[in-house]
Amino acid sequence: MKRCLKCDDFLYHNLNLFEYLVYDDCLCKKCRSSLVFKPQNFLIEDLKVESFYLYEENFKLLLLSYKELYDEALYPVFIRDKLLYLKLKYFNYTISYVPSSFDNFKRRGFNHLEMIFKELKLEKIDLFYKDGNYNQNNLNFKDRAKIKNHIFLKENIKIPKKVLLVDDVVTSSATIMACYKILKLKNIKTKALIISYNSFWQKV
Ligand SMILES: [Zn+2]
Repeated sequence: MKRCLKCDDFLYHNLNLFEYLVYDDCLCKKCRSSLVFKPQNFLIEDLKVESFYLYEENFKLLLLSYKELYDEALYPVFIRDKLLYLKLKYFNYTISYVPSSFDNFKRRGFNHLEMIFKELKLEKIDLFYKDGNYNQNNLNFKDRAKIKNHIFLKENIKIPKKVLLVDDVVTSSATIMACYKILKLKNIKTKALIISYNSFWQKV
């Protein structure tokens, strides 16, 4: 009997017969409906961003247990139900990760973003690096904006024609915009796919 990846309850609990026959999720109905799934497209300056979940308490806990509790089994819960749509929409894009997301990679021992986005089967490239001494975890909003002075394009790297910047959550957007501006200067067509967004970006 399959179990929910989040609460470990039976996956098919509370489903009617029809739902049971077509159910294709790794979260139970209760856990899935506790998330605020509200897909939206928005602009950060002129960067087109697509995002799915509001970053509220339940999503935050799910992401935390995935990232901080090293719960690798959870990676399919974020975009697996949208794979076909995303593959079609971004089929000729190359994925690049936002460097801040790698801060804790070594400590964690697995790259949480790579696990999530590998299912899209798109090309990947590691375009950026951040200078080693710069850590934005303890900075306020204003100081975080200065991150643009600490993110660089790798040298001697061939940049693809279309780049999809991916991340797990967009909050201040300073890091992703720093990457975007570097690519824009090189006339690279760039879009962003971010799993969750802060209420600041929510459309009314
Ligand atoms: Zn559950």
